Amino acid sequence: MDKHPRKKRWPKVLLTIVIAVALVGAGWYGWQWQQSRATDEASTQQSRNAQQENGESRKPIEQRFVQRYYEVEFSGAERITEPPEIVGNQAADRHIQKRAEDRGYRLQYTPTGPLKEINGEKLQPEALNAWKKLKQAAGEEGIYLDLVSGHRSIQTQRIIFDSQLRKRGKEKQGSPYTAQQIASGKADPVIEEILREYSIPGYSKHHSGYTIDISDSASSKSFEEFGQTEAFQWLSKKDYAKARQYGFLPSYPEGVENLGPQAELWEYVWVGKDNTEFR
Ligand SMILES: [Zn+2]
Repeated sequence: MDKHPRKKRWPKVLLTIVIAVALVGAGWYGWQWQQSRATDEASTQQSRNAQQENGESRKPIEQRFVQRYYEVEFSGAERITEPPEIVGNQAADRHIQKRAEDRGYRLQYTPTGPLKEINGEKLQPEALNAWKKLKQAAGEEGIYLDLVSGHRSIQTQRIIFDSQLRKRGKEKQGSPYTAQQIASGKADPVIEEILREYSIPGYSKHHSGYTIDISDSASSKSFEEFGQTEAFQWLSKKDYAKARQYGFLPSYPEGVENLGPQAELWEYVWVGKDNTEFR
């Protein structure tokens, strides 16, 4: 008597358990699937947003350095708004300015307050402090940085550019180019040559007092070969981590188009440590 009902009841109980397990399982699976779909959608949306926001961050870091410089508000300098005189003839000056701007040169900044002097070079006080710290940090690692050039006035830059133009005119045609020759484009090949190395007045980053040229005093390399020195290695490794740690960005790094001059690996501009951070 005992066995009979049991035999009949067990399959029912088992079946109920199987169905229950199947239902719970299906429910759980369905929930999981929904969850994962929701997660997928969220992450797709996230990466889409990131792509839109970070179009910027996919640019080479050097290009972002150059761009950042023009976004910084310098507390001790103001933008130059009128292109200063070059050779003193309006048509000739406009012609040269146009050539310079086509290469990427832009009007720069002049100091609004006093500069401080170090070894005959003048700098903005904040840039001078940062330079001293950078030099000391390098020294502690056996790297010898020297300050070659700091602030340069508009007038000094005018003299530099004009004397280059005169000198090269004499070499090419026996006498300096006339204003008419310059304005008509006859001196363009020479002007292009000069612009690769020298800024026109008003367009040099040295005007502000925030820009420095550095040399490696322990190296036998020439100034233009700074890129091959230990000092440059030290400053530039890990996306210029050392320079940036002290608030400096490379002024004219390699790999960026339309800089103005060709790349100048020895030039750095102080923008403040906060402005050297990139997401
Ligand atoms: Zn320089």
